[in-house]
Amino acid sequence: MEKKKLLAFIDAHKSEMLSLWQELVNHDSGNDDKVGIDLLQIKIGEILENLGAEVQYVHYDQAGNLLLAEIRHDRKGAPIVFLGHSDTVFKKGTVGKRPFTITDGKAFGPGVLDMKGGIVIILYAIKALQAIGYNSSSFKIILAGDEENGHQKSDAATVLQREFIGARAVFNCETGFVDDAIIIGRKGVASFTMETFGVAAHVGNNPEIGRSAIVEIAHKLLEIEKLTDKQAAISFNVGTIEGGTVPNSTPDYAKIKIDVRFGKESDIAVFSKQLQAIAEQTYIEGTHTQLSLGACLKPMDTTPGVEQLFRFVQATARENNLGPLKARKVGGASDSAYAVSSGIPTVCGMGVKGERNHSKEEYAVVESLYERAKLLTLAVFNLDEVNLYQ
Ligand SMILES: [Zn+2]
Repeated sequence: MEKKKLLAFIDAHKSEMLSLWQELVNHDSGNDDKVGIDLLQIKIGEILENLGAEVQYVHYDQAGNLLLAEIRHDRKGAPIVFLGHSDTVFKKGTVGKRPFTITDGKAFGPGVLDMKGGIVIILYAIKALQAIGYNSSSFKIILAGDEENGHQKSDAATVLQREFIGARAVFNCETGFVDDAIIIGRKGVASFTMETFGVAAHVGNNPEIGRSAIVEIAHKLLEIEKLTDKQAAISFNVGTIEGGTVPNSTPDYAKIKIDVRFGKESDIAVFSKQLQAIAEQTYIEGTHTQLSLGACLKPMDTTPGVEQLFRFVQATARENNLGPLKARKVGGASDSAYAVSSGIPTVCGMGVKGERNHSKEEYAVVESLYERAKLLTLAVFNLDEVNLYQ
């Protein structure tokens, strides 16, 4: 009976959900746009306050603020966490060029899939549960403001890890897959910058004193590409290269950026050492090289707790005709890694379903907004019925 009411609540609020989705997408919150992100967080925070949440913002100077909300329902027990982020990869002004639109059942617009649809799902799952007088567990809602750059300019990763401690389960409403896969594991991502310094010289007048930074880094990048070891699940990609000034001068500077994907936390020490060794080895005498680590997102481990929570969500979906869900491990990182490393059962990719995130072609299936809101609502409701993780 309660379940029917929950499903009916979502059905009765479809147009409201759609207009909130449109409103969130039509609010620029690119990762470089702190003002936009902070304003969006406040907008979402106000909605949560109206649902009885205590809302706090963790302020950052150079990154979007983090939203941290709690709805206690007068319960002291371990909270259920709804996780996500409000920033997108799209620059300020993108909304002006291509705002939220719907064509043939697909919604388009910056962040429509990653992950503004997921935010709507979280808010309406909470509303639906509250509408039936739910008060079994307290809720925590955590929305990062700088997920897309891996919290490079904030301590949000530390704050997240602290806030996850003691939670029963974490539902991350990140990008969902059109084939109904739910994410139970993610690779970690590390990005490095390698800079080589040589000696500039006029190639016609005194070529003998020139030391080419480009040639040196070319040797290095080939060595880096050779490191990719599929067995160990560590892969290296030199994604950008720059250097030199004019054709008639020996280049005294070159830079590459490297993306590393890895399966376990202990890999970090392994590949850091490998890259450092390449940085230190000199091919062109008189050059020297510096290696620096940028963002480093941990992998999301497929723990027994993750597997159990997935099977539970899968059973909930099966019982309610919300798709035969399957489990998937993917190469892209998310904040779910921090939840799992805090020891919390976590499922990721619970958001709207779509494809092509981080591109102009990004879209989400409109119907999946309601379907996934139903799934999340019922999963949270059932979590108490079966006393999972209590
Ligand atoms: Zn995302």
